[in-house]
Amino acid sequence: MKTFDKILIANRGEIALRVIRAAKEMGIATVAVHSEADRNAMHVHLADESVCIGPAAASKSYLNIPSIIAAAEITGAQAIHPGYGFLSENAKFADIVSAHGLTFIGPKAEHIRMMGDKITAKQAARDSGIPVVPGSDGGVATVEEAMAAAETIGFPVLIKAASGGGGRGMKVAKDRDSLAEAVMSAQSEAAAAFGDGTVYMERYLQKPRHIEIQIIADSHGNVCHLGERDCSLQRRHQKVLEEAPSPVIDKAARDKIGKVCVDAIKKIGYLGVGTIEFLYEDGEFFFIEMNTRLQVEHPVTEYVTDLDLVREQIRIAEGYPLSFTQDDIDLTTHAIEVRINAENARTFVPSPGTVTDFHAPGGLGVRMDSAIYNGYAIPPYYDSLVGKLIVHGRDRPEALSRLKRALQETVVSGIDTTIPLFLDLLNEKDIQTGDYNIHWLENWIKAQTPAG
Ligand code: ADP
Repeated sequence: MKTFDKILIANRGEIALRVIRAAKEMGIATVAVHSEADRNAMHVHLADESVCIGPAAASKSYLNIPSIIAAAEITGAQAIHPGYGFLSENAKFADIVSAHGLTFIGPKAEHIRMMGDKITAKQAARDSGIPVVPGSDGGVATVEEAMAAAETIGFPVLIKAASGGGGRGMKVAKDRDSLAEAVMSAQSEAAAAFGDGTVYMERYLQKPRHIEIQIIADSHGNVCHLGERDCSLQRRHQKVLEEAPSPVIDKAARDKIGKVCVDAIKKIGYLGVGTIEFLYEDGEFFFIEMNTRLQVEHPVTEYVTDLDLVREQIRIAEGYPLSFTQDDIDLTTHAIEVRINAENARTFVPSPGTVTDFHAPGGLGVRMDSAIYNGYAIPPYYDSLVGKLIVHGRDRPEALSRLKRALQETVVSGIDTTIPLFLDLLNEKDIQTGDYNIHWLENWIKAQTPAG
């Protein structure tokens, strides 16, 4: 067991703040790193120390491994928290951090590597007893191979990038005629986005929900699941709203899939927090991928479990056992998160600019995780997420009415945000009843857009 005195946060935005907050509460000093474009960013103001690690382009700063390691060495940080995105799922980075005698606050490099390639991830999941989406057993290199696989799987099929993320490199083929085009465009999109054109194929599910299980494992062999999050409200395969628990999962179903996940995680010897993502259709779970990091939507789990997941991550990295057991996890309340992006709520065109006025909502059961402030100029170089509004209620109706009230209270002027989208969605009966799948939002957006 060791105790960190100082940690470095290799990230920016709200997630850097999230980690700084947990560290401060634990009495751990914090080092922020930032690009030249982020000199006035909130994480730089809140950390105890800060180091500029390069120019605005992420490839030269937040992805610049030598600069980040040098910043940790100069400041005497003992550990690095990678947040999400950037280097958080880069196994090479985890290895380099350890090689410099620093602790990577995250899983072992071998598991980041295993889950980073979706083909090996699916193989590992299947071998560990997790049900997977029917599909090609490995990559499909040629159109002929793809045709043979598709005949076995049955149309429609989805072509996906082995190194994919953020919903990119995915193409649907409805029938034989559209397959060649789908395979080739997925391959070239994947090669351009991820430097790896390898693609594989899955049955394209028609009306699934996206349901993911949060797991947590310490270095003493203790593993727990923290229930599910329902992230079915998506646009372009990216999450827009997340809730816990799922409106369609009862305790029996949760206990069952939770146990499957815990057994698999024990089997592979995973360490830290992780999320096993499934599509759920007609009462059946199908694994799609595992994320080996803290997720954007972790606060909904924190609300319903009353745990601080970042604190747990740091304690696990220090070598402590989990501070709770599976029996302590009793999920009876409800939490919802909405992603507030600097985008037009109708057209989704990005809207970077200066925030002329910002007022965060408050009151019982309301949490705003955001790095913006009055007068803050949002740089155009990074992700459009400017805040996460998370609400907690005794049950789903209470969480929904609290969400509406909190959204109405929020003021973000000077830029466009997705807040009006959520206010509109809350008027929809399907959202009120929880009757939506992964295609619901895209269909709704189409129906709102005037033809022509
Ligand atoms: P990424 O890593 O790019 O986010 P995922 O494999 O996690 O990719 O999938 C993202 C989303 O794409 C899912 O939440 C779901 O909406 C959709 N999707 C993925 N696989 C399938 C499938 N086999 N059938 C239907 N939709 C899918």
